[in-house]
Amino acid sequence: MSKDADVIVIGAGIVGAACAHALAQAGQRVLVLDDHRGGATAAGMGHLVVMDDNPAELALSHHSLEQWRGWVPHMPADCAWSACGTLWLAANAPEMDAALEKQARLQAYGVAAEMVSASALQALEPVLRKDLTGALKVPGDGLVYAPNAAQWLLNQYPQAIQVRQVAAVDVEEPRVRLSTGEWLKADAVVLASGIYATQICPELPIRPKKGQLLITDRYPGTVHHQLVELGYVTSAHHAQGPSVAFNVQPRPTGQLLIGSSRQFDDTSVDLDPHMLARMLQRAQHYLPGIGDLNAIRCWTGLRAATPDSLPILGAHPQRPHLWLAVGHEGLGITTAPGSAQILAALMTGATPPLDPAPYSATRFAELS
Ligand SMILES: Cc1cc2nc3c(=O)[nH]c(=O)nc-3n(C[C@H](O)[C@H](O)[C@H](O)COP(=O)(O)OP(=O)(O)OC[C@H]3O[C@@H](n4cnc5c(N)ncnc54)[C@H](O)[C@@H]3O)c2cc1C
Repeated sequence: MSKDADVIVIGAGIVGAACAHALAQAGQRVLVLDDHRGGATAAGMGHLVVMDDNPAELALSHHSLEQWRGWVPHMPADCAWSACGTLWLAANAPEMDAALEKQARLQAYGVAAEMVSASALQALEPVLRKDLTGALKVPGDGLVYAPNAAQWLLNQYPQAIQVRQVAAVDVEEPRVRLSTGEWLKADAVVLASGIYATQICPELPIRPKKGQLLITDRYPGTVHHQLVELGYVTSAHHAQGPSVAFNVQPRPTGQLLIGSSRQFDDTSVDLDPHMLARMLQRAQHYLPGIGDLNAIRCWTGLRAATPDSLPILGAHPQRPHLWLAVGHEGLGITTAPGSAQILAALMTGATPPLDPAPYSATRFAELS
């Protein structure tokens, strides 16, 4: 049986697209399969943010943001890049201390981060509530429209990347069975199908974390930075139960994208009016005028969460020729470039740009 490509990538979300791009850059002929069922890439906020919950997350997000900045001058306008920066909002003295600690961690890593006083914060974002204590500004953060960025990545190497709209239903390394019954062959297969990766690899320790978003009509100039409450990390990232956190993004269209909520193990795409109400109350708590704005759409998306919130990148320990690029939770748009570089380097025998160990599948007992 002759092979159909050097590598088959299952999934054309931002992670699969970035993997295909990095593999093509490394000289591989890539076939990307996606059945258009949709995934987190089309549902996410598109915030490109340096996150520092732990050193591995900081390394991957920081490195990836540098890649994004390198891509920006070449991306078409519909990728909607904006260098908006992030304001991490402190509502009280303990959160101001947390902002200072965050600043120290980021600066130690070479990331620009400035403390903003209460009065300076009001000048930067006059619509915020007046009693905030201050903020940490991270000017290097930005945002993109991820579905178009994924398409742009897939278009970069037309000689090397081919895309087929079809469902993969099984992998018998290095072959992939399609919903049509056809088998495709390659030297290697990359699983980058987000939350659906467990349909092909049930042993993956990935759980869905549902999120809801709401977008307003166009109100240009209302908000200038991505605004996130400093409590976000504890209320949203470390919580095991349902949680909400204030997170508002100024889209380049002038619309405000309002998040965010997290619910474990809910795989329905239905809106949850109770969580949506909690999320909007949280938004109104920080932006008192937000209730007067016209909302035009609400939607949900499923983040693919691993137990430690880091992605799984590298060889499947028990399945030869199968490679994993999954579990990017709420940071996959940001970290897709670095994830793809690590994976492509491991697959082609090159030196990865970062130590790949923290992202290896072998950290999980069910995979080692
Ligand atoms: C509400 C919300 C807000 C978010 N906000 C941000 C943010 O601001 N910043 C950030 O960095 N990240 C954010 N994220 C996370 C980010 O969206 C994800 O981490 C990222 O999109 C994951 O990309 P992916 O390519 O791994 O998966 P997906 O985007 O889910 O792509 C998987 C693809 O695989 C395809 N597929 C699945 N199974 C098969 C199959 N068997 N055969 C063929 N095709 C298949 C699907 O059609 C889909 O296109 C957010 C997520 C949510 C839900």
